[in-house]
Amino acid sequence: MHELSLTQGVVEICESNSGGRRVTAVVLEVGELSSVVPEALEFCFEACSKGTLLEGARLTIERIPAMGKCHDCSKEFHLRSYYNSCPSCGSHQVTIKSGEELRVKEMEVD
Ligand SMILES: [Zn+2]
Repeated sequence: MHELSLTQGVVEICESNSGGRRVTAVVLEVGELSSVVPEALEFCFEACSKGTLLEGARLTIERIPAMGKCHDCSKEFHLRSYYNSCPSCGSHQVTIKSGEELRVKEMEVD
């Protein structure tokens, strides 16, 4: 499962940044285009954090909207998928501005 290795990575990042202190809360930013299921992430977090400094920590997931920008008319718009064309001119020259993130935004330590 994709989410399991991602969560293990998150737990490792938090542990190495906590200075050996207990982590009580973690805020994750998850982009709409990252193929991550938030519920699966929560489930894996509970499993992965057992026996670590993150055991019992509160996990908050913030969804980042997927935004694209058209090369041809410079319009910025909400992407529903990677392959959306520009809604105002129909161009496929679209740059993804946000929506692919998966990162630790904040964490609280004891
Ligand atoms: Zn356009």
